[in-house]
Amino acid sequence: MSRSPERIVKCPNCRGPALYGAGNPWRPFCSERCRTMDLGAWASERFRLPAEAPTDLGEVDAAGGATDPGPLRH
Ligand SMILES: [Zn+2]
Repeated sequence: MSRSPERIVKCPNCRGPALYGAGNPWRPFCSERCRTMDLGAWASERFRLPAEAPTDLGEVDAAGGATDPGPLRH
């Protein structure tokens, strides 16, 4: 009768002991705080990547359009 589906894992955020089971809704994190902090880090990284891509493409497009009327003006 010592069967237990729950076990202790290492929290990915604070590296502390975290209960990995139905009793811990924040698994594999040890607490809601650690889970929120990890998600926040992921969200900020995901926001950075798509934000740089459009800016790069926009600059390339603007440069290509400016190169065309350049010689005409001159
Ligand atoms: Zn933690």
